Amino acid sequence: MTRKSLGFVPLIWQCAYCSTQNPGPIKSCTKCGAPQPEDVEFLQIDEERFNFIKDEALIRMAKAGPDIHCPFCGTRNLSTAEVCKKCGGDLSWDGKERPTGQRVRTVAEAQAPQTPVPQAPAKPSRKVSPILLVIILAVIAGCVILLVMLLRTDDLTATVSAVQWERSIAIEAYTSITDSDWWDEVPDSAQVTGCSTVYRFTSAEPRVNATEVCGEPYVVDTGTGVGEVVQDCTYEVYDDYCEYTMMAWVVVETVTDSGRDLAPAWPALDLGPDQREGARSETYVINFRNESESYRYTTSSVQLFLQAEVGSRWTLEVNQLGGVQSIEPYN
Ligand SMILES: [Zn+2]
Ligand SMILES: [Zn+2]
Repeated sequence: MTRKSLGFVPLIWQCAYCSTQNPGPIKSCTKCGAPQPEDVEFLQIDEERFNFIKDEALIRMAKAGPDIHCPFCGTRNLSTAEVCKKCGGDLSWDGKERPTGQRVRTVAEAQAPQTPVPQAPAKPSRKVSPILLVIILAVIAGCVILLVMLLRTDDLTATVSAVQWERSIAIEAYTSITDSDWWDEVPDSAQVTGCSTVYRFTSAEPRVNATEVCGEPYVVDTGTGVGEVVQDCTYEVYDDYCEYTMMAWVVVETVTDSGRDLAPAWPALDLGPDQREGARSETYVINFRNESESYRYTTSSVQLFLQAEVGSRWTLEVNQLGGVQSIEPYN
């Protein structure tokens, strides 16, 4: 978000003693002479539209920086002053700058009667009954036991009853593809067929060719008794989104071979012109059986699979749901 300045407007402050409304830059009450207190609040006079200041000197003063309160007598001095205009004290020695940047209220807002913040009714203190507590603890204990059972595995012995393998190879062809991306993401070898300008992202900072989107203007305190009208803006950046064509290797077919023996083989490939071998994948399934149950184990390890002679004995690590976690030949 960028805070954009629209100009400067006069502010007033109200004397705490005689309620006189004084111009912001005036540092003691025009009626009773009381000094402006350090924690005074500057208020915005304009309600409907902003009455922008034209006086260049006043604008320069507002831009110069917040006023400084004298560390010795509290008098408000211009930011450019080096010594207090009232007591002559050195302002560089712990002089206090007025706060800046906070939103300024209007005179009407400041004079509106304070609406009391409704107090939330006190919540009745809830006591957990001992019976409920016991039930909650029992449920937690039950969950823990269930989790332990699911994670616990048992070792058992079973015999290989059947095996199965499946091997496949992807076939890729060098062909023309169509895709789309932002103009600066299009691959070098691509041929752009057309672009359109669409929204890409919102920037907090101003940018070239961006659409500025601003909120309602409001007034902030400059610490000088003059207010600055500002507006928070973001910048919607539009950019070229393009369609393109290019040559690329694309999977056009996957050939698979499978069998129910211990002799897995890769499928034979019959590659055409502009075709090549792509990724390979292999899956092996070993079925086991013992007196009571049958189990199934899937692996991509051919070394393990080749040891799974039908009828051979294996040790299986099985969880409580019957899932085989690992296997190894029994000895
Ligand atoms: Zn006064
Ligand atoms: Zn002073």
